[in-house]
Amino acid sequence: MKQKLPDEVRKPKARARGGVPVAHKKGTAESPVRRIDPPSQVVIPMLQHIGAPCEPIVKVGDHVLAGQKIGDTDAFLAAPIHASISGTVKAVAPVVTVGGRRIVSVTIESDGKMEHDPANVPPHVTNQEEFLAAVRESGLVGLGGAGFPAHAKLRFPKDAKVDTLIVNAAECEPYLTTDYRECIENSWDILGGIYALLEFFDFKEVVIAVEDNKPEAIETLSRIASTDNKKDNRIHLMALRSKYPQGAEKVMIYTVTGRKVPPGKLPSDVGCAVMNVASVAFLARYLKSGRPLISRTLTCAGSAVKEPSNLRIPIGTQASAVIAACGGFASDPYKMIVGGPMMGFALYDDTVPLTKQNNALLAFAEDEMKIKKERACIRCGRCAEVCPMGLSPVFIAEKLRKTKDPEELQALGAMVCMECGSCSYVCPAAKPLVQNMREAKDMVRGMKKA
Ligand code: SF4
Ligand code: SF4
Repeated sequence: MKQKLPDEVRKPKARARGGVPVAHKKGTAESPVRRIDPPSQVVIPMLQHIGAPCEPIVKVGDHVLAGQKIGDTDAFLAAPIHASISGTVKAVAPVVTVGGRRIVSVTIESDGKMEHDPANVPPHVTNQEEFLAAVRESGLVGLGGAGFPAHAKLRFPKDAKVDTLIVNAAECEPYLTTDYRECIENSWDILGGIYALLEFFDFKEVVIAVEDNKPEAIETLSRIASTDNKKDNRIHLMALRSKYPQGAEKVMIYTVTGRKVPPGKLPSDVGCAVMNVASVAFLARYLKSGRPLISRTLTCAGSAVKEPSNLRIPIGTQASAVIAACGGFASDPYKMIVGGPMMGFALYDDTVPLTKQNNALLAFAEDEMKIKKERACIRCGRCAEVCPMGLSPVFIAEKLRKTKDPEELQALGAMVCMECGSCSYVCPAAKPLVQNMREAKDMVRGMKKA
């Protein structure tokens, strides 16, 4: 897939440590996004972001319209939640969500009309405060999977001098192709979103970062960058080496700018803001239409899926309905994952609803997903070699097993782990290193609370 890049495409400023060359496996790259019919019901969890859950503001029996707000909170770190279809509220009750947590959710039975809330009109935005308020009302959270509320991400500390916006189009996990499709199908929305951000923030430059094995995306993004360059020359395209986890925020900032985000610090501390490419494109559409985040694109793929596809689904569509929209299973699924195979969550129940954070639903047949048997560590050091954060996962795992001392785990840097899964991926002994890291982080967090 690699080809000579146009001269105006920038090269990375630095080479991040670690990482793994995961298999490309992007079989849905040429599958245009198809909007699925509204399902007969959606289940909308009141927590679809990093932060505080929303409180439901509808009750059983209410009739709701698509785009109507159904959950909100006064907490800063949160984003409101809207109905994704029109219909009747059938339940407001805890439901098991991706990752296994039970979250209060609003179940809506479709009326088949998909009527939109007429209150959703383009927001009146003339300054940064109004812009941030509008972004909050849109319900936007990071669509790359992190789910950080966008208005909170863009509210930089007062003394921060954020001069660089990085638009993250790296999409380095295998199988995922929704960001790639966004680049190809909606490049003018990406430009519109960037212009909106440039209008209300003091960014000196914008870098759209994409992996160098996506020539068609590079071509379309070059076009929008050169459109700007004829005027202001603030938008640039950068091709990154194809390596996992190239799209992780701290890795991306270092690669694109050469700036290192110290442990416990934020991108704004080094003058950067990073936004997912689909989030940026959504902003342009929202400012034009006033329609909040009620649907998202998702890659449904894997050897057990009959017709792997990219779909636009209403938020809260259950996994079973997504599989049905892809023609059903080609064979018995041995393992299902929400998100990419490196950082996603295994799914044990196909009634689980898919949320704003979920960019993929994967289902694999047994031969593609044989679970390796765990063996004794052979001290090869590969887990430490590939860790982009410079950790020694093997030592942290051993400390966890032997002492379970949160202070020692913290001293070994457990909290710095971004849970990328690179260590588990390369471990020849099939050690569950990323699970160990999650457990270690939970223990350190517990120590802080106590
Ligand atoms: S999961 Fe954590 S410890 Fe393992 S490679 Fe990624 S950052 Fe390092
Ligand atoms: S990669 Fe696995 S086998 Fe090698 S040192 Fe790390 S834990 Fe041990």
